[in-house]
Formats: sequence, structure tokens, C-alpha cells
Amino acid sequence: MAGGGAVRLDLDGQAIQPLTICMVGAGGFIGSHLCEKLMAETSHRVLAVDVYNDKIKHLLGSDLPWSGRIEFHRLNIKHDSRLEGLIKMADLTINLAAICTPADYNTRPLDTIYSNFIDALPVVKICSENNKRLIHFSTCEVYGKTAGSFLPQGHPLRNDADFYVLKEDASPCIFGPIEKQRWSYACAKQLIERLIYAEGAENGLEFTIVRPFNWIGPRMDFIPGIDGPSEGVPRVLACFSNNLLRREPLKLVDGGQSQRTFVYIKDAIEAVLLMIENPARANGQIFNVGNPNNEVTVKQLAEIMTEVYSKVTGEAPLEVPTIDVSSKEFYGEGYDDSDRRIPDMTIINRQLGWNPKTSLWDLLDSTLTYQHKTYSQAVKLAMANPVASS
Ligand code: NAD
Ligand code: UDP
Repeated sequence: MAGGGAVRLDLDGQAIQPLTICMVGAGGFIGSHLCEKLMAETSHRVLAVDVYNDKIKHLLGSDLPWSGRIEFHRLNIKHDSRLEGLIKMADLTINLAAICTPADYNTRPLDTIYSNFIDALPVVKICSENNKRLIHFSTCEVYGKTAGSFLPQGHPLRNDADFYVLKEDASPCIFGPIEKQRWSYACAKQLIERLIYAEGAENGLEFTIVRPFNWIGPRMDFIPGIDGPSEGVPRVLACFSNNLLRREPLKLVDGGQSQRTFVYIKDAIEAVLLMIENPARANGQIFNVGNPNNEVTVKQLAEIMTEVYSKVTGEAPLEVPTIDVSSKEFYGEGYDDSDRRIPDMTIINRQLGWNPKTSLWDLLDSTLTYQHKTYSQAVKLAMANPVASS
């Protein structure tokens, strides 16, 4: 039964029937939090598909209260015919699988395009052909750059929300030139969104598309040299956490002037659960999921993380807490950046009544407390013994 055993009601007051969910990419950052929520608070069953399970191992034991409701299937969706059987067994498929770290978009553009378009295709097709509902994870990056970024500095329209607030049903998707391979990811995600939308329109596929706006929290990515490749470049939360753990300056790419809105993973997972349990309100929709109140430049993010981490550890920050690096030096040729990403929340608010709750300070406080507890000893050991750890 559900955590607490109570009958769950949907937003229209109807009892929610237990579902079987095929979750592809369940072993990643978002998947691990979604599995945790589904096990602790609902009666739904999860067929968890991934090539890794490190981040959900704590949910898989046979002695846990939800034992039997989550099964791990280690398979690579690129080439495994078992996927079809799992999707057919489920009421709903959630596809999270992707290469989604920006350092890969310009350095591994082929893998990025295959992962985000070609490998996602069979999932869409199997769902469509078998009348199975699909929740597909896209990205806010499909919006690309804001219209406002093409206006001259100081132009009054730059301050007009129409030029920078991103709306699912109105904003254009603006990418850089092909040689800026950064956009390989956004373009592949946009094409799979269009395909899903077309399957909905022409073949009746019941779908929901999610566009996450920088969801962050514990278990995001990896700490280079500790639980990931020592030369690997994760997303900004893990890059800055790694710098803080090692007491080295945080690297600001091109001065850290780009802006982002960050939402706490636990808030965002509430939104996904509403989509799962309210199909009539979520089907056929594309949802921005982010926190427009948590907007900062990357430089400000670095400053806040430095302050929060100092509070968590009781250690004074470095005298020079940040350094500037060029994007070419940090990411290599072909990098480009989204200038600003503010999600318009009208649609998710209207359909599901969802609002994010957690402030940037609070979400960084709990996340950096987790990072410190999880990694500080291992980082100290690795730094004391660099040969062994490499
Ligand atoms: P993640 O990298 O932590 O998780 C992705 C998971 O998919 C990984 O566990 C990986 O092993 C698995 N996977 C990849 N290819 C696979 C394959 N061929 N077969 C089986 N498993 C495979 O990433 P995440 O942050 O959890 O993101 C999940 C989804 O959300 C992705 O589609 C991503 O593009 C999208 N997204 C996330 C964010 C965010 O803020 N975290 C932002 C925008 C978009
Ligand atoms: N960034 C940075 N230093 C780092 C890592 C990232 O300045 O060590 C910047 C990056 O250039 C981008 C922003 O932080 O402007 C967010 O990067 P992330 O990799 O989290 O993903 P994105 O939001 O671009 O998809």
C-alpha cells in the first residue's frame, strides 16, 4: 500500500488506482528522486530501467516496506528488445534517459544527438503503437537563447518580459549556428518533442512533455575523481560543489554572466507526481517546470554557494573564491550558452495548480549539507593520496 496507507485522490477528487510505471533512466538524478517519492508516498509499481543503479540501490533491498513494488532492469535502450515487453507491461512510461551534461554537447555531439533523438524514438513508437501513455523529459534548453539577447545592450525592450520569459505555447526556439555544437542537444530534444506532438495529433498518443529548468539537489551528477571520471565535467552544481570540497576557486565560465533559475528537486518531483496522477489534466500538455523566483547569474550562484558552504562547514571562504575562465578553455570549441531562462508558469499552474516552494538559499543549504556529508572524507583522502585515487 501507499506510504501511510491512505487512499490518494486526484485533483478532481477521484480515487487514484495503482499504476505500473516503466521508468527509463530511473537510475539517474531525477529518476532516483522520483522512485523515492513513488515508493514512500504512493502504491504505484516501478519497472526501473537503466544501465546503472547506484543512485537507487537504497530503494532496492528486499527488507524495505515497498519491497516488490520496484524492480530494476539493467538494460541499454539503444539495443535491447526487452524494452518493448516492459513498456507493454506498464500503464505509463516515463522517459528520462539522455546524455544531458553540457560538456558533452559540443565534444560528443553525435552521442548527444543519438541519445536524445534516435534512442528515444523506439520508446515513443512502442507507446504509440500500444496505446500507452508517455511522459517524456525534454529540456528548457529547447528555447535556446532569448529574443532579448539579440537586442543591443541597454535597449528598453530587454526589460520587457515578452523578450525573456519563456512560454510553452508562444516563445520561439532560437539556436546558434550549426558549428556551435552546443545546440546539438537542444535541437535533438526539440525534434523528439515535435515527433511526440505529431504522434499525439495523428495517432492519438497520450503524452506529456516536461521541460525542466535547472532542477538541482542531492545526487545530481558526480564529483570528478570520486564517483565519476577525474576529467569529467558535470553540471554547475556538481562543478561548484567539487571546487568547494577541494577548497579551490569556483570557475566562472566567461565571467558567469549567464542567468539561470534553479528549482529544488523535491519541489519539481511534486509536479511530476501531479502529472502521473492527473492524466486528464496532463495529457497533450507541454509543461515548464522551474522556479522563476530563484533567478541568479552564475556568478551570484557561486557567491551564494560559497557563503552557504562556509556556514555548513564552519570554515572561512577562500580569499579569492572565484576565477574567470573562457568557455573555450573550459568546454572546448563549439560551446555557446543560453543567456537567460525564466519559465512562464501559467500552464502548469492552470492545469495542475503546482507552484515551487523552496528558496535558493534553503535548497543550497540542504544540498550542500548533503554534499559535505557524502563527499568530504573521500575528497580529503583523494587529495592526500592523489596517485592511489587516480
Ligand atoms: P541523469 O544523467 O542523472 O539521468 C539520466 C539517466 O539515463 C542516467 O542514469 C543514465 O544512465 C540513463 N541512460 C542514459 N542513456 C541510457 C540508455 N541508452 N539506456 C538506459 N539508460 C540510459 O540526468 P537527469 O538530470 O536525471 O535528467 C533526466 C532527464 O531530464 C534527461 O532527459 C534530461 O535531458 C532532462 N533534463 C534534466 C534537467 C535537470 O535540471 N536535471 C534539465 C533539463 C532536462
Ligand atoms: N558554469 C560555470 N562554471 C562551471 C560549470 C558551469 O560557470 O564550473 C556555467 C555554464 O557555462 C552555464 C551555467 O553555469 O552558463 C549552467 O551550466 P550547467 O552545466 O549547469 O547547465 P545548463 O544550465 O547550461 O544546461
